[in-house]
Amino acid sequence: MREFGYLRPTDPVEAVRLLVGSPEARYLAGGTNLVDLMKLGVERPRLLVDVSRLPLGDVTPTDGGGLRIGALVTNADLAADPRVRAAYPVLSQALLAGASGQLRNRATTAGNLLQRTRCLYFQDTAKPCNKRSPGTGCPAREGVHRDLAVLGASEQCIATHPSDLAVALAALDAVVELLGPDGPRTLPVTDLHRLPGDRPHEEHRLLPGELITAVAVPPPVPETLSAYRKVRDRASYAFALASAAGILAVRAGRVTHLALVLGGLAPKPWRARAAEQRLIGAPADEASFTAAVEAELAAARPLRDNAYKVPLARNLAVRLLCDLAAKGQAR
Ligand SMILES: Cc1cc2nc3c(=O)[nH]c(=O)nc-3n(C[C@H](O)[C@H](O)[C@H](O)COP(=O)(O)OP(=O)(O)OC[C@H]3O[C@@H](n4cnc5c(N)ncnc54)[C@H](O)[C@@H]3O)c2cc1C
Ligand code: SF4
Repeated sequence: MREFGYLRPTDPVEAVRLLVGSPEARYLAGGTNLVDLMKLGVERPRLLVDVSRLPLGDVTPTDGGGLRIGALVTNADLAADPRVRAAYPVLSQALLAGASGQLRNRATTAGNLLQRTRCLYFQDTAKPCNKRSPGTGCPAREGVHRDLAVLGASEQCIATHPSDLAVALAALDAVVELLGPDGPRTLPVTDLHRLPGDRPHEEHRLLPGELITAVAVPPPVPETLSAYRKVRDRASYAFALASAAGILAVRAGRVTHLALVLGGLAPKPWRARAAEQRLIGAPADEASFTAAVEAELAAARPLRDNAYKVPLARNLAVRLLCDLAAKGQAR
C-alpha cells in the first residue's frame, strides 16, 4: 500500500471541504471495501477523509411517518432496529442476507451503497478493465462472467452491483440525502447508480466531493407486505447470483400495489418497471406473476456462462410474489 494522508473531521461541512478539489481523496467509512481495494492497488487515494466521527449514526422518524437512516448507521444496527423489522422487513432481510456478522458490524449504509463491483478483473490490477482503467478493454465478456450481468450491461462492461441493501432501498423508493460544496440535495436511490454504457468508470451520480448524509425511507404503503430473497453459491457470506425485493398489496384477488427490484443481474438494482405496470390491477396469481416477470426479463442479454441467471431470477421473483400474495390472503 502506498503512503496516504489521513484526516478525521467531526463536521460534515468540513468533511466536504476537505474532499472538494482533491480528486485523489476518498471518504472512509467502515473501510470494509475501500481498504480491501487499497491493499489490492485498485484504489490509490492520496488522502482519506475518515467520516466515522461525523454525527450521522442515528435512525430517526421523519415528519411524514418514514425513517431517516444516517449514512453511518451500521448494517447490523439497521437490520436489528425494531422499527425497521416491523415496518420494512424487506430492508432487514436484505441486510441480514449480506456479508457476515463481523462485516455488518463495520459496514455502513452509505459505504454499502457505494461499494464497488466484485468482478475479478476489476480487482486484479494485472488485467485490463474498462471500469478501473478506461479504454483498456473488458476481458470478462470472453472470460469469467458466470456471476456478471444479464441486464443493463454494455459492450464496455458487464459488472453487477453487489449491494443487497441497495436492492431493498430501491423497492422502498428511498431517497439519498447528499451534502456537496453547494449545499444539500436529494437523489432517488433508483437514480444513484449509472448503467455503464461507454463510460463504465462513472458508477454513480454523485457530484465531486458530495457526501451521503442519510437515506430517507417513506412510510410503508398501506396493506403491503414485503420480503427479500437471495440465491448465492453458499448459504452465507456470498454475494447474490440473483436476488429479489418485493413489496405487494392485493385486494379482492387483484394487485393494487407492487414494487419489484432484481439484484445480482445488472450494474445497478434493476427496478422491474415493466413487470410492475403489467401487474397493477391483474390477478394476483402465479400465471400473472410469471407472465409479468418474463416480460421484464425479455430484455436480458446473457453471455456464454450466465444464462442460468434468467430462469433463476424468474423463479425467484415469481415465488417471492406468490408467497407474499398467499401471506396477504391469510391475514
Ligand atoms: C467478504 C465480504 C463479503 C461481503 N458480502 C456482501 C454481501 O453479500 N452483500 C452486500 O451487500 N455486501 C457485501 N459485502 C460488502 C460490504 O457490505 C461492504 O464492504 C460495506 O457495506 C461497505 O461499507 P463501508 O462502510 O465499510 O464502506 P467503505 O469501505 O468505507 O467505503 C466504500 C465506498 O463508499 C464511499 N463512502 C463511504 N461513506 C460515504 C459517504 N458517507 N458519502 C460518500 N461516499 C462514501 C467510500 O469513499 C468508498 O468509495 C461483503 C464484503 C466482504 C469483504
Ligand atoms: S465487466 Fe466491467 S469491471 Fe469487469 S472486466 Fe469488464 S469492464 Fe472491468
